Amino acid sequence: MTTQQIGHFIGGNPMASRSERTSDVFNPATGAVTAKVSLATAAELNAAVAAAHAAFPAWSQTSPLRRARVMFKFKELLEEHADQLAALITAEHGKVFTDAKGEVTRGIEVVEFACGIPQMMKGEYSEQVAGGIDAWSIRQALGVCVGITPFNFPVMVPMWMFPMAIACGNTFVLKPSERDPSASLLLAQLLTDAGLPDGVFNVLQGDKEAVDGLLHHPDVRAVSFVGSTPIAEYIYATGCAQGKRVQALGGAKNHMVVMPDADIPQTVDALMGAAFGSAGERCMAISVVVAVGNVADQLVEALVPRIAALKITQGMDLSAEMGPVVTQVHKEKIAGYIATGVKEGAKLVSDGRGFVLPGHENGFFLGGSLFDHVTPEMTIYKEEIFGPVLCIVRVPDFTTALDLVNAHEYGNGTAIYTRDGNTAREYTHRVQVGMVGVNVPIPVPMAFHSFGGWKRSLFGDHHAHGPESVRFYTKQKAVTQRWPASTAAGAEFAMPTLK
Ligand code: NAD
Repeated sequence: MTTQQIGHFIGGNPMASRSERTSDVFNPATGAVTAKVSLATAAELNAAVAAAHAAFPAWSQTSPLRRARVMFKFKELLEEHADQLAALITAEHGKVFTDAKGEVTRGIEVVEFACGIPQMMKGEYSEQVAGGIDAWSIRQALGVCVGITPFNFPVMVPMWMFPMAIACGNTFVLKPSERDPSASLLLAQLLTDAGLPDGVFNVLQGDKEAVDGLLHHPDVRAVSFVGSTPIAEYIYATGCAQGKRVQALGGAKNHMVVMPDADIPQTVDALMGAAFGSAGERCMAISVVVAVGNVADQLVEALVPRIAALKITQGMDLSAEMGPVVTQVHKEKIAGYIATGVKEGAKLVSDGRGFVLPGHENGFFLGGSLFDHVTPEMTIYKEEIFGPVLCIVRVPDFTTALDLVNAHEYGNGTAIYTRDGNTAREYTHRVQVGMVGVNVPIPVPMAFHSFGGWKRSLFGDHHAHGPESVRFYTKQKAVTQRWPASTAAGAEFAMPTLK
């Protein structure tokens, strides 16, 4: 049997690769290699950027209204193909189908926002800033934009980027994660079917070599990155040194502060989904509970049986709550963190390492794990595990909880569970984190707001989607205008000031 080869999408068509370098794509539920994805050659990279570069003049001159109409059609096609997209996600990522459908929906919401681009591209206008002079600002597209995306949301994260970039009049090259590359090709086909001109959106499969080539390509104007913090920092430094506009979203360690007055059943429900949904492979997953006062014992008592009862199976089973993790290597890395936690003295109350799914012995499954008595010096507290592992840190009071969250190097998301309005208000006001939930465990902003963390969870100035994305994907031009008939005074040699 020949293994399926996954290639690129360039200039409006699928393109087989000639690369001799490939990477295995797995079905995480079975452990089987289901395809090989080509890792782009330099010539293929140049072809993708050239296609985007060639498409830019006409696309950027296309009326925003027409660009929006392509987005309207794209949204319809996405809805028609939502199940197919979700099944592709489950097949290569492993997350459960219902969760994959949710991911597709959150992506579609960005397309819905992009449909309003004519309104968002409107500039500002000041009449009569001086005698007979008007001034206004406009926003214009940048050129070729690049997206480099992580494995954990193969549909949603690319769709944080390209619908807005394209609606603003840019052209785009997407470099998806090599671990789950197929969904991006279906997205490209749907855009073409929606009437997007050839070359406006391209998919280039690859690894570090492709990323480096894109970062150094003279025709690339802007780079959006989402992935782990060390790579985000590297992308930001390298892209900026090449004179490109860069936004690079990184990793996370999201804390949920649970106050003694929290509704415990509600908190436990929230924690189960936020810690173990998508096997903890979400940048907004809750990985640390900061239990204030005497609340920790109640949480542990309620969580242990719930973790033991988690329905863990292959993702196409519609009753599944948690699927496998993405690769065997990642599974071993997570198990390694659990071993380190035990060695460093945390109390392992639920151990997910022994979990085996009958009939899927080679799948990359782990059960849920829970650590109690975790301290800030421990590796499992400091580092992002990105797996189904929840850590409880016990603190005496609110101030200690707040200080702990603020001292962590990451600042992506956080939540507080309490019935006290003032405590919630103080927390949202004083916490040094980009996205905050009050009795909401995973506070991912809607498409019409912007998504982004603080501290080492984001490098750059602009957050993703929402109003910030219009600023990121356009440059502003300020025009000051006077017509000859209004000129009375002749040449002026002093700095112009209001008269
Ligand atoms: P990753 O950093 O390994 O990979 C992300 C992208 O960078 C991929 O396309 C990959 O091909 C590329 N890449 C990997 N190594 C590279 C290198 N040395 N040089 C250049 N490019 C390289 O991340 P991942 O494992 O795919 O995704 C998980 C990470 O992403 C987690 O840390 C998670 O928190 C983070 N994430 C963050 C957000 C956010 O919004 N902040 C969202 C989703 C995921």
